[in-house]
Amino acid sequence: MDSDGTISPDGKRCEFSNTDSRLVEGLVELLHGLGYKSSVYWARSRRRVIGGQDRDCLGYWRVSWTAYAEEPMFRLSRKTARMRSIENARPWKSRRRRIVNIQPVASMPLRCISVDSLSHLYLCGKGFIPTHNTEAGNNWIGYVIHYAPGPMLAVQPTVELAKRFSRQRIDPLIAESPALRDRVKPQRARDAGNTMLSKEFPAGLLVITGANSAVGLRSMPARYLFLDEVDAYPPSAGEEGDPVALAEARTRTFAWRSKIFLTSTPTIHGVSRIEREFEASDQRRFLVPCPHCGHDQALRFERLRWEKTKPETAHYACEACEGAIEERHKTAMMAAGRWQAAATPADPGTIGFHLSALYSPVGWLSWTGIARMWEAAQATDEAKRSFQNSVLGETWIETGEAPDWQRLYERREAWRIGTVPGGGLFLTAGADVQKDRIEVSIWAWGRGLTSWLVDHIVIAGGPERQASWGELTGLLGRTWPHAHGARLGIAKLAVDTGYQAPAVYAWARGAGFAQVAPVKGVEGFNRAAPVAGPSFVDATERGRKIRRGARLWTVAVATFKSETYRYLRLAAPTDEDIAAGATAPPGFIHLPRGAEAEWIKQLVAEQLVTVTTRRGFQKLEWQKLRERNEVLDCRVYARAAAWIAGADRWSGAKWRGLEDQLGPGQPDGHRAGDEPPPVTAGLLARAAPATGNRRSTWLAVDKGWLK
Ligand SMILES: [Zn+2]
Repeated sequence: MDSDGTISPDGKRCEFSNTDSRLVEGLVELLHGLGYKSSVYWARSRRRVIGGQDRDCLGYWRVSWTAYAEEPMFRLSRKTARMRSIENARPWKSRRRRIVNIQPVASMPLRCISVDSLSHLYLCGKGFIPTHNTEAGNNWIGYVIHYAPGPMLAVQPTVELAKRFSRQRIDPLIAESPALRDRVKPQRARDAGNTMLSKEFPAGLLVITGANSAVGLRSMPARYLFLDEVDAYPPSAGEEGDPVALAEARTRTFAWRSKIFLTSTPTIHGVSRIEREFEASDQRRFLVPCPHCGHDQALRFERLRWEKTKPETAHYACEACEGAIEERHKTAMMAAGRWQAAATPADPGTIGFHLSALYSPVGWLSWTGIARMWEAAQATDEAKRSFQNSVLGETWIETGEAPDWQRLYERREAWRIGTVPGGGLFLTAGADVQKDRIEVSIWAWGRGLTSWLVDHIVIAGGPERQASWGELTGLLGRTWPHAHGARLGIAKLAVDTGYQAPAVYAWARGAGFAQVAPVKGVEGFNRAAPVAGPSFVDATERGRKIRRGARLWTVAVATFKSETYRYLRLAAPTDEDIAAGATAPPGFIHLPRGAEAEWIKQLVAEQLVTVTTRRGFQKLEWQKLRERNEVLDCRVYARAAAWIAGADRWSGAKWRGLEDQLGPGQPDGHRAGDEPPPVTAGLLARAAPATGNRRSTWLAVDKGWLK
């Protein structure tokens, strides 16, 4: 590395380039063995001007990876000096695995996939990296080509992913296995019947397709069917219905000789396909013996024990003897483990396997790693769900049952509506536009997305009334007093475009997109991020985009409704807890004494139900329990505004900065007649504080829910 290696000026990437493929392969293997994740790039040969001469440059490989000063890659001081300390980096992104130990893995699932097994349908829950499931399927593909040729259909969630799967998984599998290489002709050979999505071999054919392609799913009768990541499939392949059912129909020709293998990381309880299929199987779990008492048990996350904030103390408590099982015991336990069925399926040929990351072999994801991931995941619901799905291999239960409004009413707290308590660090607003009024909730947000209702304002007159918009504009310049003396304005206001979108855009353009975000609600949970955008939606009559035109954010309202309900369900600390210094848990929703019953009833006006669609597949849907639900909508938009402002991604330092800006340098309860506190930059308001009876103008149109 001293002579041929380089490091980027920011110290983020080490690089090594060479034309010798064996040398490059050796380097990659060495890096992997040391735990570095590298990427390899092939630069094609081309003509270049070097030193004024036109020259042929040979193609070469470039290997790059991230390394840290604690394990220097260089001896030359000027290169070493660029390396960053692991302290300020995110090593778990680049240092995912390393070889610590090599051991045979229990191969029961693989033996079940083998064609002479009695069972025809196989399932796997997934715990760790894709190799667990997908790799099992890939091995099956290799087995079919080599030993049991026949027509085989491999389905990925989309055609795009199918192409990537073929390039990154199947092509190397064939290239690196002599037995497969002999049977599948190279892609370049003419008339070889071998393309990216179709591989011909003697007495068989492998077709790779996406679950979004009805044409691909109907392409041929299949004896073998490999359905990968079924929970990521769309509900319907085009207009033709459930892709799993469509694909399974292709195996009927082969009746009992057919074999179907489904795998997936599970998603949401009630709509997860793999969960439904697993429940219809014999539900095998892997039992391992306790090293202390010998009791066989399936590993469960609830029994992983560690001291709070000290994941390195993680160990597993035996369910029989409570003995501490350490990471180092795992290898022997796994070797002595066995699969045990927990149910008798209607079809005895349906076998299901479930494995979580708790079983990861020593040197892979450790129990300490899992404890650390759990602690890190507590910040947001998205992270919690991801942990539940991909580490534990369990579905996530959306808590859709409406919280009890009376309990929320009784736990209202003693601070004045229209003011911001100490923990609230910035304000957002959610505006719901109705035919005859515009309703706006103002929420304050603090660390951990704890929130406080600050105000709820009803502007009489709908979007047709110009004055309504004027009043909404007025809100953008208004400020609310903070417990530490400063005054806060609205950092971001999200306004719904579901009704009279053109009028909303027109207003938003005038008000400016720095403070205003037009939003559109969409159904569904399976979105990578709860808010997407913005997209530019303004166009002239000729269809040309308007410069500085309106920006629209897409909000997965279902996700934020679920989150709101989960937050509403968090237990408030008791008086004793508070006396002992405890505060409300992250995400807690604080309501002031002034919030009336009607307001709270609207906040919990919907519930999540599982519905069966006309096509027969299930989905989760939010349904109204009562007519009025604007308060919940306003809350969801205000929450989306916090997301758009970036609050979900702020570092501890950013929150600390907000706290520093707000005090508590000054005594609580800034009194009239005092010198008004300075209006700070950033999220704090630009407008001068209102004086006297400032709420009265808004109270005139307020329905009186807030006092
Ligand atoms: Zn035990």
